[in-house]
Amino acid sequence: MRATSLSLLRTATRCSQTRVAACPHQLAQCSARWSSSLTSTSSGTERKWSTPLAKMLGEAITTTGPISVAAYMRQCLTAPEGGYYTRQTSTGQDQFGTKGDFVTSPEISQVFGELIGIWLYAEWLAQGKQDKVQIIEVGPGRGTLMDDVLRTISSFKTFAKSIEAVYLIEASPHLQKQQAKLLVGTEELEKSEIGWAAPLKYVPGVKIQWCEDIRFVPKEETSTPFILAHEFFDALPIHVFQNVAQSSIPASSTIITPTGPIKPKHGVTAPKNTWHELVVSPASPYASAGTTVTTSSASDKGHEKPDFELTVSQTPTPHSLYLPKMSDRYKKLEETPDAIIEISPESFAYISDFAVRIGGGNAPSPKARQKPSAEPASFSKAQPSGAALILDYGPADTIPANTFRGIRSHQTVSPFTAPGLVDLSADVDFLALAETALNASPGVEIHGPVEQSFFLSTMGIKERAERLLKGAKDEDTRRRLEAGWKRLVDRGPNGMGKTYKAMAIVPFNKDSKVRRPVGFGGDIMS
Ligand code: SAH
Repeated sequence: MRATSLSLLRTATRCSQTRVAACPHQLAQCSARWSSSLTSTSSGTERKWSTPLAKMLGEAITTTGPISVAAYMRQCLTAPEGGYYTRQTSTGQDQFGTKGDFVTSPEISQVFGELIGIWLYAEWLAQGKQDKVQIIEVGPGRGTLMDDVLRTISSFKTFAKSIEAVYLIEASPHLQKQQAKLLVGTEELEKSEIGWAAPLKYVPGVKIQWCEDIRFVPKEETSTPFILAHEFFDALPIHVFQNVAQSSIPASSTIITPTGPIKPKHGVTAPKNTWHELVVSPASPYASAGTTVTTSSASDKGHEKPDFELTVSQTPTPHSLYLPKMSDRYKKLEETPDAIIEISPESFAYISDFAVRIGGGNAPSPKARQKPSAEPASFSKAQPSGAALILDYGPADTIPANTFRGIRSHQTVSPFTAPGLVDLSADVDFLALAETALNASPGVEIHGPVEQSFFLSTMGIKERAERLLKGAKDEDTRRRLEAGWKRLVDRGPNGMGKTYKAMAIVPFNKDSKVRRPVGFGGDIMS
């Protein structure tokens, strides 16, 4: 049983209800202000940046122009030098737990990972006990979830025997080492074709492999991939767009031209809304803390002055030209002035990859078949198999807006303070993930998203916790176990049961009989 203190149960998760939201009106007012934010102020003093990464980003932006939120987020989270996940902390303390910035479900209770292990086993049984199983986790953090999952799986001997390899997709070399310590028992890893490898401690003869991107994991037509993504998609970069009027000149205005004033005809300059990308630029050195980013959180740590601010790009960006056109859901908001949408193309790449591994890719078009080199070869699967389980926070069917936030020491802070020292995240657009997966593969179906409380309750969290409680060695352990599992399913503002969702990708069932996976309304089949 994992040793955690009671205080851990009071720590904040990443999906705190408070939001650091960019106010659309303020954004519009501060557009194109970036050019005045030079590295030295008018008084000649060097501009002070809060971190070396902020300085590097600030200087790059001053040279080349504002960057997208996605580029900012990627640098802040995974830049090799000074990225939030990739940096080596001076104390050796990682990002998780009471001493870190946030706590996640697997760190709160071992029951979480155990139930996910059982979910995988139930899917494996329901799909006819396939062999050549690959267990894949994206963004494994400390490795706690995978440890609980593999410990659980190792007690189902036939399932454990069917595992060919375990893959961990991890951007941080330091977290890779921490995961190895837990899952292998050593930090000594051998170099492999895709990254690093070591023998797994739970299943003899099986290797665990680390790499930085899921594209490196071998895709085989006969493999059965079981993929886990817990609090991974919320860390993937987002682009943010605001629907603003193309012309800010009111229809009744007079335009002064060299040949005299012109009164525009009614309707000619009527505002037409278009999507403008919100971009990141250095904050004005004269702005006081919080002038360009509003926060509903009184807990914004010390009201540190942000290094950067969001502005509305006045000209189209490469992403504003096509991303908001990708779905009818965005189109419907074109008539809503000031609407904001967040889109994560990197999430789409990951979810498409999951879907294709499970269900095979779309059949190549006749044109591509004639010219085989024109498009990458399609990956087909005679029999779709495997599953992906995505657990994260975000709305079930609406498009996230104003959800980009920073998390530091269990508090919500501006995402533009202390770049590299603050965790950044945004709500996951589950419906966009579902749409993308279905478009990527004809061989998959989607279940959910359902609330975490529903998923865990129907998986039997109460029964499993009660069994553990019976064996609890002392009152402290009892209280910790009890508070832990209840927090995972609590649907109130301090619980994780409602905001966190579960969604599954499973093989498309050609029979008319729908088989719901366990946790999504189905029963365990054997
Ligand atoms: N699943 C874990 C950790 C969540 S934090 C838990 O729930 O406790 C996000 C994890 O994703 C970290 O391990 C981080 O290093 C990793 N990560 C973030 N961005 C990534 C990227 N672009 N590619 C690979 N890993 C990434």
